[in-house]
This record gives sequence, structure tokens and C-alpha cells, in this order.
Amino acid sequence: MFEITARLDGTAARAGVITTERGQIQTPAFIPVATQATVRAVLPEAMADLGAQALLSNAYHLYLQPGPEIVDDAGGLGRFMNWPGPTFTDSGGFQVLSLGAGFKKTLAMDPGVVQSDEVIAPGKERLAHVDDDGVNFKSHRDGSIHRFTPEVSMQIQHRLGADIIFAFDELTTLMNSREYQEMSLERTRLWALRCIAEHQRLEAQNPDRPRQSLFGVIQGAQYEDLRRKAARDLGAMDYFAGFGIGGAIEKQRLAEIVSWVVSELPENKPRHLLGIGEPDDLFHAVEAGADTFDCVNPSRVARTSRVYTRAGRYNLASAASRRAFEPIEPNCDCYTCRNYTRAYIHHLFKAKEMVASTLCTIHNERFTIKLVDDMRDWIADGTFRERKAEFFAGYYGAASNDRSAG
Ligand SMILES: [Zn+2]
Repeated sequence: MFEITARLDGTAARAGVITTERGQIQTPAFIPVATQATVRAVLPEAMADLGAQALLSNAYHLYLQPGPEIVDDAGGLGRFMNWPGPTFTDSGGFQVLSLGAGFKKTLAMDPGVVQSDEVIAPGKERLAHVDDDGVNFKSHRDGSIHRFTPEVSMQIQHRLGADIIFAFDELTTLMNSREYQEMSLERTRLWALRCIAEHQRLEAQNPDRPRQSLFGVIQGAQYEDLRRKAARDLGAMDYFAGFGIGGAIEKQRLAEIVSWVVSELPENKPRHLLGIGEPDDLFHAVEAGADTFDCVNPSRVARTSRVYTRAGRYNLASAASRRAFEPIEPNCDCYTCRNYTRAYIHHLFKAKEMVASTLCTIHNERFTIKLVDDMRDWIADGTFRERKAEFFAGYYGAASNDRSAG
């Protein structure tokens, strides 16, 4: 399923090809997020034009709306949303626990806060309760009560029919105690075994359906011994076709945590870093040996008028763009930059026109996909380190952009 085609000396970075029933993915690759079977504000055709190789949807959202049986009857996730290429679904574990505990941005939580296993976001009700068998949670849509177990997650992901699916895991936070992390890690290990068993049962029951590749998910928060143990335990489970690296990760420690995990995992299987998409994180993670990434950030920030460029991120709604009759980024090959000016998009945001979000999302998704595509070339030609230094000087060294406002 995965073939390594190039390596970067002195690092764990590699380029490769993932093969699925619906096509190949050249890695490293950024996989845009189509949460509810759509990249918000952009047509699937536009995503293909801007170079997306695959899309990732969320099992939790599609379970609640429209329901996995509707997606199944439509011919599966790809056909439902008119995306002929490879698709991923996550397990729902992240959403049931992060939305359920009232945290939307688990990765950004402050680890300096006193540790507690009962912590929830301020002013929120705890909506998710974990036990050894699964998770009870309240829908963020209508408050109805649901239960996910490893078996339920596999059944949902089988009906959604994505090419790459993930084992159900428990998301912990950086605020959980060490004792809780140990207990949770063991729970996620046992759940991984149950996911494999259920996946095999469903495959045997439906031999004519397209094959789906199951990825295990490595947890362990900020603890080196736990991350390594999880990678060894799941890495030894031959049935996994690849691995996700999930859970709470402090930004400053991303490369370190990926390195621990990568050094324990089998070399010949792809590694997907869940929920990571900022430029510096992508560089560090590729260098540490991660192969694919997904993140809602390029589209989420686009809808608030923030755009990425090689000179840094800026806010198109600020007055600086009012009379800027030039593209968002001069050398960008995206549809937006080939056809529209900053001044026009600035106007659309001020006029609250929906197409503003569409044009910005196209640019941001293209920026992120192209950046990771370039990294693939730089691994192959050996210039990764120099290009990374150049990029960081341009993106983070630029004083003229309003990153503070972005
Ligand atoms: Zn552009």
C-alpha cells in the first residue's frame, strides 16, 4: 500500500506513494478537511483543480447528519460528494471527546493549568463520558444522547466507505493526570484490537465492497515513554496499514513527539499526523518523518479573511487591502490569484458576500497543498533544509504583515 521513493539524509523525512482503490497519494501530502462531506465554501471540482489528492471527512458529523446509511446508499462518501479520488474518515473519537468536553481546540489548551481529570471548558457542561467499553455523548446539534464504541465507529466508517479509516481512540488532554494517561493508553490499545476484529468481521461479511485500509492511532500526550509504548504496541499489530498520530500536542514539542513515535513505528507504513496544518508545524513534522496531514485551518481562517502567503499571514479585511489591485500573492497559481485582486476580495468581505470565503479558501488550500508538494520535491532533490530556512525567513521573519491581527 505504501512505497518509499526518496529519503532526506540525516533526517527521518521521506517521500512516497500511498495506493488506494480510488487512486494514489504522493507523500508528503496535505489532505484538506471536508468535515460534512464538503470543504466548506468550495466545490469538489475546485479542490481537484487546486491539487488536492484526497479529502478527509469526520465520522462524527456524518453519523449525526445525514447518517451513515444515507451515505452508503448514495454509493459511499466519495460518490456522495462527487469526489472520485481517495477519501479518509476519522474515527469520531476526537469529536465525541473534544466537543463533548466543551473543548474545540484541544491542542491549544494551556498545560500550565493544574492537572485534573474532570476538567471541562469554562461555562460548558460535560457532554461526554468515557468507560472501558466506549463513550456516551450528547450531540452538539440537538442534545440527543449517543454511544460510540470501537465496533460502532468501525460500522459507521464501513458504511461511509472511505479508503483510509482510523481506529477509535480516547482523546486525552494535556491536563489529565499521568495516572489517567496510562489508564487511557491501555484503553486505546484494547480498543485498537477491537477495531481490527470488527473491521475484519465487516470485511468478511461484505467481500464485494472496496477494500478500506485501517490506521491505528498513537496517543500518549506529552509523555515520551507512553508515546513510544503506544507506537510499539500498535506498530506490532500487523493488520494496521498505517498509523495516525493524535491527541494533545504542544506546538513547541511537535517535532520531538513525532520523532519518538516515528522511531518506534514500522518504516514501511504511512504515518498521518491528525489535525496539523500550520506551515512551521508541517515543515517540522515532515522532517520528523510524518507523511500526511489534515487540518481545518486553511479553510477556517479563510472565512475570517486571513490568507497565507510566503511572506506571512495577513488579514484581507484590514485597510491595507482596500486599494490593493494585485493578487493575494503575486506568484500563486491558484484560481483566485489568477483572476481576482485583494481589493475586490476586501470589498466582498466588507459587503458580507459569500464568495469572499470561497475565493480565500481556494487560495489557502492551494497554499498549504503546494507547500507540502514542494517539500516532497525538496526531499527528492536534497534541498529541503535550505528551502525550509528560506521559507521561515520569509514567513516568520517578515515584519510588514499583521500576523498579530491574523
Ligand atoms: Zn492564490
